[in-house]
Amino acid sequence: MLKKLLIANRGEIAVRVIRAAQDLGIATVAVYSAADADALHVRLADEAVNIGPPAAKKSYLNIETIIAAAIEKGCDSIHPGYGFLAENAGFSDAVTAAGLSFVGPSGDAIRLMGDKVSARTAAAAAGVPVVPGSTGRVDGIEAGRHVLEETGFPVMIKAAAGGGGRGIRIANSLSEFEQAFPQAEAEALAAFGDGGLYMEKVIGKARHIEVQVLADGKDAIHCYERECSLQRRRQKVWEEAPSRCLSDALREELCASAVALAKAVNYSGAGTVEYLYDDEADRFYFIEMNTRIQVEHPVTEAITGIDLVAEMLRIAGGEPLRIRQGDVTVKGHAIEVRLNAEDPAKDFAPFPGKIGDLRIPGGPGVRFDSMLYNGYQVPPFYDSLLAKLIVHADTREAAIVRLTRALGELQIDGVKTTKRLFLALAADPSVKAGDVHTRWLEGWLQDNARALAG
Ligand code: ADP
Ligand code: ADP
Ligand code: MG
Repeated sequence: MLKKLLIANRGEIAVRVIRAAQDLGIATVAVYSAADADALHVRLADEAVNIGPPAAKKSYLNIETIIAAAIEKGCDSIHPGYGFLAENAGFSDAVTAAGLSFVGPSGDAIRLMGDKVSARTAAAAAGVPVVPGSTGRVDGIEAGRHVLEETGFPVMIKAAAGGGGRGIRIANSLSEFEQAFPQAEAEALAAFGDGGLYMEKVIGKARHIEVQVLADGKDAIHCYERECSLQRRRQKVWEEAPSRCLSDALREELCASAVALAKAVNYSGAGTVEYLYDDEADRFYFIEMNTRIQVEHPVTEAITGIDLVAEMLRIAGGEPLRIRQGDVTVKGHAIEVRLNAEDPAKDFAPFPGKIGDLRIPGGPGVRFDSMLYNGYQVPPFYDSLLAKLIVHADTREAAIVRLTRALGELQIDGVKTTKRLFLALAADPSVKAGDVHTRWLEGWLQDNARALAG
């Protein structure tokens, strides 16, 4: 078992990892930038190290400083959280080279599955259906024209190194394609330091369904699926489990394909295999693998009773998987909503500020993962996620009622948040019926601007 863990992250996920470590009796070391000296993760960890100025490049992305802090504090391991260095293969390698355990997959597994193009190739090789599109990277417009014969229009141009909904463009015609391609290349280079692109047919009216996997380098299991079809700008805002649109047979097929892929790449740790599901054709397609813990992991924890972060820590400590596939069972339905410091009435503009009165919802079936406390100053430098509200109930209907009840209890003064959006969505007939797809919310936002104003 690990003895002392450095958490190379901030915000709610740093708090989440500290809690799991402390539950297992592992000592914790937080790192923080100058903007986070008063952050909750710093207060909750046993020790904390200042790693530099607010800009992430100079603190949370500084590999040398973070590893030096871990060594100086006598840590035996580093958990990267999500975002920042979580999918940086060089970081995983550097942590291992320094004699520490990286709580996540090897650098090689990250290189293979973190690059969206090689992941597509690995998925296809493992027999997992991928979205029709390019084989390998698309080198220039000319090569792209050939791929168009396969995809038709509309087509998606995607960054091989993309993530967080960024680095994706849609072209509806050849002229749009010829214009978009060089722009996408330049943008990808600027945003991810890698201009590599690939192309996929656009799956219209798709649902986003993803499978949670746990693996120890030899064996792999799944913890069933999550559906994350409610998205804004290709970023998830509401996630739930199980998906109400899968038949038992298709669920088995989907989950088995994720396990096959994890085994094929000797995966270790927690990971998520993401798919698009086309209702009408009743087909699913692999889109990518996230080689880290995901923002929405608590909905899986709610329905399975498994502490995914604790399992990650056990695996990194060298224990073989202790959960057998037959022991993973699903109970009830869970929903998570992402409470961001954003103003829904102003096109979700970031709204940093100082937290005033704070009332956190509770009671049966309610979990609130957050770094908030009364008087906390939300810094303007990072992701706008403040909190995740997770509800669990016997049925999806009861979970939506519970979500509305818990949102009613929630009060976060001092900043604007996305709470109003979720109250409106929880009351919407299409959401209640589960009749949505990945572009549904964009249309709903246009039609319901007034419901969010004020
Ligand atoms: P999840 O699939 O866990 O919901 P997201 O795709 O929403 O994850 O991303 C989780 C976090 O990681 C967000 O803070 C997002 O901004 C960040 N992120 C994901 N991929 C990248 C990337 N390639 N570069 C920078 N940040 C990223
Ligand atoms: P990221 O790495 O940014 O998470 P993904 O490849 O997972 O990128 O795609 C993010 C979202 O974009 C998906 O959940 C889906 O809504 C949309 N998307 C991606 N690829 C396609 C596609 N081929 N057709 C339709 N929608 C897509
Ligand atoms: Mg994704």
